[in-house]
Amino acid sequence: MSSSSSSFKFKCFQCFFMLHVFAATSILSDNSSFNNFLDSAKSPEVFDWMISIRRKIHENPELGFEEFETSELIRSELDKMDIPYKHPVAITGVIGFIGTGLPPFVALRADMDALPIQEMVEWEHKSKIAGKMHACGHDAHVAMLLAAAKILKHHEKDIQGTVVLVFQPAEEGNGGAKKIVNSGALENVTAIFGLHIAPELPVGEVASRSGPILAGSGRFEAKISGKGGHAALPQHSIDPILAASNMVISLQYLVSREADPLDSQVVTVSKFQGGSAFNVIPDYVTIGGTFRAFSKQSFNHLRQRIEQIIIGQAAVHRCNAIIDFLDEVKPGYPPTINNGDLHEDFVNVAVNMLGINKVNSAVTPSMGAEDFSFYQEVMPGYWFWLGVQNALHKRLESLHSPYLEINEDGLPYGAALHASLASSYLLKHQQNVPGVERRYHGEI
Ligand SMILES: [Zn+2]
Ligand SMILES: [Zn+2]
Repeated sequence: MSSSSSSFKFKCFQCFFMLHVFAATSILSDNSSFNNFLDSAKSPEVFDWMISIRRKIHENPELGFEEFETSELIRSELDKMDIPYKHPVAITGVIGFIGTGLPPFVALRADMDALPIQEMVEWEHKSKIAGKMHACGHDAHVAMLLAAAKILKHHEKDIQGTVVLVFQPAEEGNGGAKKIVNSGALENVTAIFGLHIAPELPVGEVASRSGPILAGSGRFEAKISGKGGHAALPQHSIDPILAASNMVISLQYLVSREADPLDSQVVTVSKFQGGSAFNVIPDYVTIGGTFRAFSKQSFNHLRQRIEQIIIGQAAVHRCNAIIDFLDEVKPGYPPTINNGDLHEDFVNVAVNMLGINKVNSAVTPSMGAEDFSFYQEVMPGYWFWLGVQNALHKRLESLHSPYLEINEDGLPYGAALHASLASSYLLKHQQNVPGVERRYHGEI
């Protein structure tokens, strides 16, 4: 009896599987379906709602791991759409699920945190919190992922597998993605997509590349201790300002003399603090900065040499130095490296939706960094730039500028691309997974 019953279930499931693949194919795989997603995202019902959410979040920016109200807003919208979720993940993070609840699982990620910047744009929805601003567009990222969720929920019966919505805290320096990965919430996810607004790219255009697109980034801070005293009697002091100045100069040689000129790297000393009087040599100086590279090997080499130079130069100048790479508080970010197969999927989806002239598939990499790379360390991942250029602006403002103003007309493209990338990934990978396996294993 048990065997006949299981074979019956198996046959029924095969029918279920076939029917749904056909249904999904008809809705999700041809050009018109991608346009449908874009049409849905541009419809007043989705567009107006998405923009109002973006503006609400823009008015109430919250810094990394403090996104409590943003998280609450996301959960209330997911509740209204009847989308189940896990919370809290990584303090304020929310992980939503659309589809069968079964494999394959594909994730879409939006970061939610703001920056400690005073907004200088005068507009109706200016930040209401002094000294905090969504100057990196993460407000738009959240709104676009919610809109993608709305579109996908509408097609839920056709989704073969599960779309995992990752609303992630603390991208700006605190590595919220690492905390999400460590929580185990994405264990069965086999691919992840993420996007970032690009103020210099026109609306309706995207840019990305296969392989490295953003650098790995690390931080260092060093305290150089000497012996303070009267500035007119240097022979009685050990001057940490001179020692630190030599360190700054010596650190410049790492990129100009030690690195392969074809392997892009950066070492910047961006912090130099010490002394407060014209006639006093201080006891100590602190310096700090960032270093960037595209390979683990180059990154580790820089880190090792920064330490050697600071300790060595301290000794030359009779000082002591303690160096901290801030691994616990602000973990370094690995390089963002786009998976080649997902790149092909992305180009197909984006060209179908936007047209070939709107897709730059070989953008120049940037020395900026993203904690999206933590996902890419544990699964194939793909990250791209989305155009939100404000055509009215004479001067282009960059990300992290207090004058950043994005063109909200770009948001439907992000929402539709999210929805299309997830559904086409599931459709493609559905066909490779045996039905029975799928049914009984790997629930998230
Ligand atoms: Zn940023
Ligand atoms: Zn950002």
